[in-house]
Amino acid sequence: MSTTPAQELHFDAIVIDGHCDSIGEQLDQGRWLGERSSKGHIDLPRLRDGGVTAQFFACYVPIAFQRHGATVQALDRLDQLLRLADQLPGELVLARRAGDIRLAKTENKVAAIAGLEGAEALDGSIGVLRQFYRLGVRNLGLAWNYRSAACDGVSESRSNGGLTQFGVKVVEECNRLGMLIDLSHLSPAGVDDVLNTSLQPVIASHSNARALCDHPRNLTDAQMEAIAVRGGVVGVTFVDAFLNARNPSRATMEDVIAHIEYMLARIGPDAVAIGSDFDGCNTPADLPDVTAYPRLTARLLDRGHSPAVVRKVLGGNLLRVFSSVCGE
Ligand SMILES: [Zn+2]
Repeated sequence: MSTTPAQELHFDAIVIDGHCDSIGEQLDQGRWLGERSSKGHIDLPRLRDGGVTAQFFACYVPIAFQRHGATVQALDRLDQLLRLADQLPGELVLARRAGDIRLAKTENKVAAIAGLEGAEALDGSIGVLRQFYRLGVRNLGLAWNYRSAACDGVSESRSNGGLTQFGVKVVEECNRLGMLIDLSHLSPAGVDDVLNTSLQPVIASHSNARALCDHPRNLTDAQMEAIAVRGGVVGVTFVDAFLNARNPSRATMEDVIAHIEYMLARIGPDAVAIGSDFDGCNTPADLPDVTAYPRLTARLLDRGHSPAVVRKVLGGNLLRVFSSVCGE
């Protein structure tokens, strides 16, 4: 089988997916991610088929545990990712710095970037934040959809709070440690507060453009511009309801392309990334799992985007931010 120029570019590029919920598949569904499965969206063999260099794995704490037992839940989830890396050292490595991602590419391994989806797991303690950092966590979402001790989530529209006093300390400590801060799921006031507090670039790992799809989880032009101007990135996500809020089942890869192109035009080629939310959502039928990535690359090239811009979107931009925040 001969390879196309698009496939050549794709498998040569550093490809980074900014968000997935696959750890939950392993912990809750008993699906070992080291083996190929026909279920869900991600496992290690399919990450390889999709040409993914680095995958962000979120430790999402289910709602029932967000008030009680969140730290243990998050540790249990992180343990699942570290077990995978421990048992398959020739295939998966935990990325603590950018060099780990570059090395994984040359050694033909997949790099895993560990993240917490919500500050509930910190249980109000900066010491616990530092401990998660020591365990290898490099991305922190300050809230899921509801209120955490650090910040309001996007569903808290009644109070529309932003960062708490504790949240400000968390942002400052993340800056000091070299931990990414993730704006996806935050309230509008929370997004503003983080952008005005963080001295480092920030990411919105899985959010689309509000102008194309009017869903509260998507970002306004002003929010995206503020992220971009500070050197951060927005990860276009495949969540069907964030692609087509009125008719999620009608969403296709063309909607993903439309969000990428809108952001490229609006906030520039250095600020656009990808954060699928695989294993955490319903995706378009023509993006059934992570093996679809080479087709996305081919479509972007077909649409006339230069190889340099496509490489930035696929992972170059996320690698730049990861390198500047977490270290080279
Ligand atoms: Zn999410």
